Amino acid sequence: MRGTVLYGPGDVRFEERPAPAIIQSTDAIVRISATCVCGSDLWSYRGISPVAQPTPMGHEYCGIVEEVGSAVTSVKPGQFVIGSFFASDNTCPNCRVGYQTSCRHREFITTAQAPGLRVPLADGTLVATPTVPADDLIPSLLTLSDVMGTGWFAANAANVKPGMTVAVVGDGAVGLLGVLSASQMGAARIIAMSRHAARQKLARDFGATDIVTERGDQGVARIQELTGGIGADAVLECVGTQESMMQAIRSTRPGGSVGYVGVPHGVTLDGEQLFFSHIRLHGGPAPVRRFLPQLIDLVWTGKINPGKVFDLTLPLDQVAEGYRAMDQRRAIKTLLLP
Ligand SMILES: [Zn+2]
Repeated sequence: MRGTVLYGPGDVRFEERPAPAIIQSTDAIVRISATCVCGSDLWSYRGISPVAQPTPMGHEYCGIVEEVGSAVTSVKPGQFVIGSFFASDNTCPNCRVGYQTSCRHREFITTAQAPGLRVPLADGTLVATPTVPADDLIPSLLTLSDVMGTGWFAANAANVKPGMTVAVVGDGAVGLLGVLSASQMGAARIIAMSRHAARQKLARDFGATDIVTERGDQGVARIQELTGGIGADAVLECVGTQESMMQAIRSTRPGGSVGYVGVPHGVTLDGEQLFFSHIRLHGGPAPVRRFLPQLIDLVWTGKINPGKVFDLTLPLDQVAEGYRAMDQRRAIKTLLLP
């Protein structure tokens, strides 16, 4: 079997790899129907996160169960399944309160940009769809493995409620799906921060009512202007830089909440500024497993179509071009088909 391996900055190869096999009795082997490149993969691709040795890539996946270990009871061969980028047992104390990405037995999925995948802790990790879906549903189902679940967690962590004014920092796939999530949760007004025409259009399709193109101080000033000088009730931080985090915190009204899901790179917070801001901060790696049943239902019944974030589809063996297109911001998100 061939799979995706990152050798160093800008160097993605699709090369021969060991075929996945059952190692633990709790494993499942999934034949991938679709996978994709994540915005977070770009941190390593760009050399911002160092790559010490050739590293297999990919953590977003959905597909058909091919084989299960002897202890697996909740999924069986032939079923179409989706799982989180962290495998979790779904039974430990952290899982039971809905924080499966802090599972005490969690394992990061790292080899999903390939035709086959070993999923540990299959009973806790994988959720089957009602039947095998039609091909046109697969992109939307794939987003539930990470970006849609992460956008949903950003809105959930920012405590979005009906009638609220919400601002979204970041116009990558997660930010755009954060807009969709806030809209589903009943936000009255959704301000998307984006300076790219195609992304602004998608944000509007997903429910954004206002677009702010400014960043930094000017972006904050614009949010203040749009909210009568008060700030947004809820702000979704979907980037992970110092600038985006401060933009989120300073755009939030006293008593409001920031949900942050961008993996922080060099972000530091000033205690005194936080103290006087009167805001709530919650975030982290999204426990997408918590939301899978609900989000599968929303996709299955046609209420949401998060697969619209894929604006480039490539055969899996052209994965290197998929990374390049996202790195150069020619594509929002690349769908890969084995
Ligand atoms: Zn657990």
